[in-house]
Amino acid sequence: MGVLALQGAFGAHRQRLHELGVEAPLVRKAEQFDDLDALVIPGGESTTMSHLLTTNDLFDDLQERIAGGLPVFGTCAGMILCAAEVLDGRPDQRSFGSVDITVRRNGYGRQLASFETDIDVAGLDEVFHAVFIRAPAVERVGPDIEVLAEHEGVPVLLRHGACTVASFHPELTPDGRLHEMFIHSIC
Ligand code: GLN
Repeated sequence: MGVLALQGAFGAHRQRLHELGVEAPLVRKAEQFDDLDALVIPGGESTTMSHLLTTNDLFDDLQERIAGGLPVFGTCAGMILCAAEVLDGRPDQRSFGSVDITVRRNGYGRQLASFETDIDVAGLDEVFHAVFIRAPAVERVGPDIEVLAEHEGVPVLLRHGACTVASFHPELTPDGRLHEMFIHSIC
């Protein structure tokens, strides 16, 4: 399992995986794609990641691999990059379209730009403390999507086939249960 490391909170994901016994390389080059069984796409800035993926000639290759079944765990900006439709994005911003959802960038508004809350997650016995930072809001969910958690009626953790996406940052708390869940979902 690798962590896409063009920009954003990739170090924290790597640390969470390390704590679970998974040594995940930082992925920055297309040559590394062949070795991947799964990829984490971190939070950060989706416009910048989209730009870097495109200018480094990685976007189309990665999109093809994800469409071909490469499991992805996308968090926050990573969720935006996986979404089928992005609202309030930059006009040149691209997304892989691997998860059939519509997301609005910074969809929680200015006042609620960043907040923390406990959420119930399907399959977990105890609540998960979720950190939202200028998070995308999910505005549409396609028919084949499994919603694993909601916050105030809005889905915040979803699965579509081999892709899991979260609008919050599970890597920024010491709780590794969602990384563990992703690992189990692909094994
Ligand atoms: N608002 C950011 C974006 O559009 C996402 C924020 C985050 O990843 N914390 O990419």
